[in-house]
Amino acid sequence: MVSQLTNYLKAGYTGLWIVSHEEQRVAQDVLEACKAAKRRCLHWDVNNGFSAADGKACPKGGAGDPNAALSLLHSEDTTLILWDFQLWLKDPGPGLVRAFQQAFALGKGGKGHSCAYIVVAPYVKLPPELEKQFQVVDFCLPDRARLAGIVQEIAASGGLTVDDPAPLLDAASGLTTQEAADALALSFVESKGQKLDPKVVSREKATTLKKNGLLRVVETKVKLDDIGGLGSLKTWVCDRRHAFTPEARAWGLPNPRGFLLLGIPGCGKSLVAEATSSILGVPLLKLDAGSLFGSLVGQSEANTRAVIQTAEAVAPCVLWIDELDKGFGGQGGQDGGTSERVIGTLLDWMDKKTAPVLVVATANDVSKLKPEFLRKGRFDEQWFVDLPTAREREDIWRVVTRKKGRTDCYTETELARLVSQTEGFSGAEIEAAFSEALYATYNLSPRPFHPPLDLMITVIMGTTPLSKMMAEQIKSLREWCHHRAKPATTPETLAAPATGKRKLLAS
Ligand code: ATP
Repeated sequence: MVSQLTNYLKAGYTGLWIVSHEEQRVAQDVLEACKAAKRRCLHWDVNNGFSAADGKACPKGGAGDPNAALSLLHSEDTTLILWDFQLWLKDPGPGLVRAFQQAFALGKGGKGHSCAYIVVAPYVKLPPELEKQFQVVDFCLPDRARLAGIVQEIAASGGLTVDDPAPLLDAASGLTTQEAADALALSFVESKGQKLDPKVVSREKATTLKKNGLLRVVETKVKLDDIGGLGSLKTWVCDRRHAFTPEARAWGLPNPRGFLLLGIPGCGKSLVAEATSSILGVPLLKLDAGSLFGSLVGQSEANTRAVIQTAEAVAPCVLWIDELDKGFGGQGGQDGGTSERVIGTLLDWMDKKTAPVLVVATANDVSKLKPEFLRKGRFDEQWFVDLPTAREREDIWRVVTRKKGRTDCYTETELARLVSQTEGFSGAEIEAAFSEALYATYNLSPRPFHPPLDLMITVIMGTTPLSKMMAEQIKSLREWCHHRAKPATTPETLAAPATGKRKLLAS
């Protein structure tokens, strides 16, 4: 960050807007950059007016008056950090906008001395008159080396030694310096001074990420074995299970970009996203695409950058973009180009990303999906998750009964009957029918351990599957996906024979 800031200062940028929650780290890096660019570093804040970062004499006064901060003539090349200014710039009066225009003109130096103005805030909110004058700089979250320093500091202050800091660093990645320090200190207190606990740090990270409403850490135990059918897709994911290991990197295996799952609701797309993170052994961050769009000007773009920054800090990880169709369906150009800019930022990152972040995007309604997402090469693969075939329903029945503690509760003949009765059912509907039947079974006297076949069939017959209610939409989805997406189902010719005890793909 220091070298990037130094370059901006040396190049004569007069307005920088640094996006960060971390005032101290920013101040430290700006000071370093000023030293490298041979400039003086001053601060201004609403309560204290001017102060010098190096403790030397500095201009007096100016507290409470932003215009005063901007009208100072400098006796040497200077960088002025304007704390609190974002609060005025949310709704600036004409006087302040003009003061900035004049300050930028003077700040260019000309015959006198140059001055760069830096605003630091966790978001970007600029009046249109000043938009072009500021370069927006995203301040990176602390890297592992910096986090390692914090771990050592807190361990030392508690009289502890940490032999293997890696789990703590994994847990703290994606947090700001202060958040990481707080979470580590809390883990120390909760363990009554015995250790720094990665579990507590992970828990705190999950809470912290939830606060901004954009990303959620999903704790999942779903394995590929817990998914019935979708054989081709599972094999493809399984082939990438070592992709993020150092050995694979050293060998030259390319970083997987990610994949898009298109398909019918309730057929296992979310399960696949979860199982992918389990099989790769990396955390799963879930982004609700709709939450990116904020009401303030510039907020959506800032949210997108924040999500990217967090995903890269947590990397290696899986970033699951749920409901891509709803979140990025676009507002038909009625949002002043915000959705275009947000999508552009995200796609640009997906194209160029070098960090080990695998993107799994899920969508149900392809008609709402922006064509940009479907461009060849954007994802490694686009998969179509259709309603389960007979073989897949058999797998799903086995998975669902096992999940409810009723492994192999039906004979092969009974199972065949259930498979044929549930034609057109999604996995979610099969599971819901079995749960429904369990409730009815509990009230039988004597109470059997699993739903008898006739009761199970009655429940199934009383269910109208989505495939009946949405027959038209499903037909057009299938037609659309036919040439554009790969079927997640293993072709019948390649599928293993339905022996009844077929082993699902091992994870
Ligand atoms: P939506 O598009 O509505 O989000 P989805 O395709 O993501 O749906 P899931 O959320 O993965 O569907 O499935 C819902 C539930 O249905 C799962 O939690 C699981 O219990 C069950 N289920 C769906 N498909 C399968 C499957 N192929 N194998 C086992 N269980 C399944």
